Amino acid sequence: MKAITVTPRTSNSARLRDIPQPTLDDVPGGRGVLVKVLRVGLDGTDKEINAGEYGAPPPGSDFLILGHESFGVVEQVGPAVTEVAPGDHVVCMVRRPGDSIYDSIAMPDFTLDETYHEHGINLLHGFLTEAYVDEPRFLIRIPGELRRVGVLMEPTSVIEKGITQAFEIQRRMKVWRPERAAVLGAGTIGLLAAMALRLRGLDVSTFGLDEPPYLNSDLIEALGARYLSTKRVSLPDASKEFGPFDLIFEATGFSPLAFEAMGELGKNGVLVLSSVTGGSRTTEVKSDALNLGFVLGNKVMFGTVNANREHFEAGVRDLATCQAHYPGWLERLLTHPIHGLEKYEKAFEALGERGAIKVYVEVAPLE
Ligand SMILES: [Zn+2]
Repeated sequence: MKAITVTPRTSNSARLRDIPQPTLDDVPGGRGVLVKVLRVGLDGTDKEINAGEYGAPPPGSDFLILGHESFGVVEQVGPAVTEVAPGDHVVCMVRRPGDSIYDSIAMPDFTLDETYHEHGINLLHGFLTEAYVDEPRFLIRIPGELRRVGVLMEPTSVIEKGITQAFEIQRRMKVWRPERAAVLGAGTIGLLAAMALRLRGLDVSTFGLDEPPYLNSDLIEALGARYLSTKRVSLPDASKEFGPFDLIFEATGFSPLAFEAMGELGKNGVLVLSSVTGGSRTTEVKSDALNLGFVLGNKVMFGTVNANREHFEAGVRDLATCQAHYPGWLERLLTHPIHGLEKYEKAFEALGERGAIKVYVEVAPLE
């Protein structure tokens, strides 16, 4: 069967390759689930792996199958599988448990290990192929009604973790009722975060670079949220007008904004940092004022990465609720469908295109 593979640490090595078909026996004890891949989303991670920046093949392999944002349908199950059945739509979780105490309680997203095992990224093959076999404990069932937007599940799980954690942390306040949120960044993650916060009833201000109107600002406004271009209004001015912000979700990929956000967080507020900034940028900050604001305002800032089953399941609920409250909204995020694995080069091109929100490969048509 076909797969898109890379030679990790080699730039521009993506290619179409023929690989052996997986079988149910790849998982012992009759617990295998054979999943036919329908759609796979791509993002900056795939681009960086294909640029040779990071990534590693599974032990014994000299290539890595790309793709971590999966969506598929169960074709066959082993005799000892009760959790899913043929015909069920599923998404596969990305990170596998390692050795730390958090891994042993199904929270590999909090692993203390230095080495991550992640599908399509590090040491485990990904999903840009026709089928895969895995254990039921790593699969999330997706209602058939969500099949058209199921490929958004993995990025949704990432924002769900950030928001779930923020609410969990804020239980320190006993009666925390957040009213106003700021989302920094209007890309896929920023859009999904704005959606999840609107579903929780918050007044949401989303900050993006581009001036409205364009698709992303339209999408923000369709949620009843506010789109603000940082070319027209600064974060401090906006927070005077639309704040104070009880929750700020940072998803711009530009680390100086994390410090700017610290200065604009409301009293008792929580700042969620989700940008993976691999560079070496430095910035000067008003450290006394920021520190004082955090101390006198009882503020919290935390980082969030990856997601575990709880967050995927919260994502399923939010995607379903979003479909009910804002019909058609999630479909509008699927801007760049690429038909067929062999068109993978087009997918990489689309990732850099203006107006691209979710780029995904349609490996097989949805039934
Ligand atoms: Zn992703």
